[in-house]
Amino acid sequence: MPDRSKQNTALVTGASRGIGRAIAVRLASEGYYVIANYHSHREEAENSLKQIRKNGGSGEICQFDVRDAEAVQKAIEKITKTRSSIDILINNAGITDDQILVMMAAEKWNSVIDTTLRGFYNTTKPVVQGMMVKKAGVIVSISSVAAITGNKGQSNYAAAKAGLIGASKSLAQEVAKRGIRVNVVAPGLIDTEMVASAPVDAFKSMIPMGRIGQPEEVASVVSFLCSEDASYITGQVIGVNGGMA
Ligand code: NDP
Repeated sequence: MPDRSKQNTALVTGASRGIGRAIAVRLASEGYYVIANYHSHREEAENSLKQIRKNGGSGEICQFDVRDAEAVQKAIEKITKTRSSIDILINNAGITDDQILVMMAAEKWNSVIDTTLRGFYNTTKPVVQGMMVKKAGVIVSISSVAAITGNKGQSNYAAAKAGLIGASKSLAQEVAKRGIRVNVVAPGLIDTEMVASAPVDAFKSMIPMGRIGQPEEVASVVSFLCSEDASYITGQVIGVNGGMA
């Protein structure tokens, strides 16, 4: 059993399912103590933790809504009381709520933008403050191929995910001299609940590799960006999309 107090800490938002779970499991298998955030699916978050432990890793689950600044702040204060610092932050929590713009209710626009962009701000600001004191840290945010290509019915989602790229590139420049790297991973179509109702077969013709991706294929790129192997990479957007863009 590793000495938990000596393990670096990774906070992964939206780690109760899909890509977030795969990232949490992967980082834990590499020795990070993983804080697996969830919003509404506690049982699924517990399943993520079980998978982390099954693979020999360690961590804990932590409930907060990334849209709620006060809740995020309190959770981060609590984490940094027990862990000395948050060394890795993965901004993964995200939702879709599709509709063509001309028909889109303001609520759909706001909820998607809020989860991704307000969520990025609420989580990243307090975490990066701690990283600046330590003069070290890595932040990876999960955008989407939709940010680059656009997607019919996803103007809210594409705007939010494109915003994440601009925010990350700016932050990367602000904190580079403090030893903090900030990057973005932009997946294509990945096999999770988010795309469960999508016409995947119809989409396959748009993917040069002819198949959708697995969450683990995103997690391995995130893991690379968090590692020393990526020590000179910051402010970048890495596509994981089977050649879509
Ligand atoms: P899922 O829908 O499977 O999981 C979403 C996760 O985000 C869940 O853990 C959920 O928590 C969490 N979440 C949602 N809202 C909040 C909130 N307000 N506060 C905290 N956590 C929240 O999605 P995926 O795994 O597919 O997607 C993960 C990320 O990857 C998202 O940002 C998504 O946009 C992006 N992405 C996904 C692609 C895909 O094809 N799947 C393609 C490109 C990008 P809970 O279940 O507890 O509510």
